[in-house]
Amino acid sequence: MVLDAPGRPLRAAELPDPVPGPGEVLLRVRACGVCRTDLHLRDGELEPGHLPLVLGHQIVGEAIGGDAPAGARLGVPWLAWTDGTCAYCRGGRENLCPNARFTGRDADGGFAQLAVADARFCLPLPPAADYGDLDVAPLLCGGLIGHRALRLAGDGERLGLYGFGAAAHIICQVAVHEGRRVFAFTRDGDDSGQAFARELGAEWAGASDEPPPEPLDAALIFAPAGALVPLALRAVAPGGSVVCAGIHMSDIPSFPYELLWGERVLRSVANLTRADATAFLELAPRIPVRTRVTRYALADAERALADLRAGAFEGAAVVVP
Ligand SMILES: [Zn+2]
Ligand SMILES: [Zn+2]
Repeated sequence: MVLDAPGRPLRAAELPDPVPGPGEVLLRVRACGVCRTDLHLRDGELEPGHLPLVLGHQIVGEAIGGDAPAGARLGVPWLAWTDGTCAYCRGGRENLCPNARFTGRDADGGFAQLAVADARFCLPLPPAADYGDLDVAPLLCGGLIGHRALRLAGDGERLGLYGFGAAAHIICQVAVHEGRRVFAFTRDGDDSGQAFARELGAEWAGASDEPPPEPLDAALIFAPAGALVPLALRAVAPGGSVVCAGIHMSDIPSFPYELLWGERVLRSVANLTRADATAFLELAPRIPVRTRVTRYALADAERALADLRAGAFEGAAVVVP
């Protein structure tokens, strides 16, 4: 399924089989998670690396050629390649490498039957007995980057989650496992989203412009709405953190300085490191994190994106060739 140009629907196409270069793996795609970043690329809110482009950066694949044992089940996340030489890479912050390439943006991704990936950036996955191909796919972005956001938010007990989609439904389970209290914020009137959050252990769920019943120690913003930033700052106690976990957000409205005053911290989280991935994929089966997945045939990838835009499902969408 290719994106010909931002704003146009994905189109089924026959492309030449990708050929793995040195150090690369050829994968038969078994499943690929759908992320809001795919939607931002589709809708022209993020610049694609090339066109036509194959989206999808939560690939569960089986190695069938190149630099990996045949039959190995591997995950391919958003981080596709880094230079390994810049100050960020050498300092353990490869997520900020200025030359990084990303799956489904710079390199063709997993909304396809076959994909090629750099073997050094492929992830060994938990055993199939713990996670089937569909179940594990949403961990590869929503889980990994969501977990990075959770760690950057500090250890506070009262955690707000703004936007209860693929990432939040995973991170809610991690936070509850860590003994935190979760407060979930959704669109006003999203009763099913709020019920879903309570089902996963949130002690409170309400509309994003509602004040929580008590101040928060930290908040993660997964929804791409800049208007949530002052709302979240207002909801956190002095010393608390607000972490913006998405790659794109609408403009943030101006707000009075007193919302930031009191040593509140406002920051973003960008991409992931391979160390983040290893840590989270070891942690997830021990909790165990359970994903709620809606399955779409590969040919229906455009419909999966439309349903994500409309908030038509709980949890995560996964495309299956
Ligand atoms: Zn993603
Ligand atoms: Zn670098």
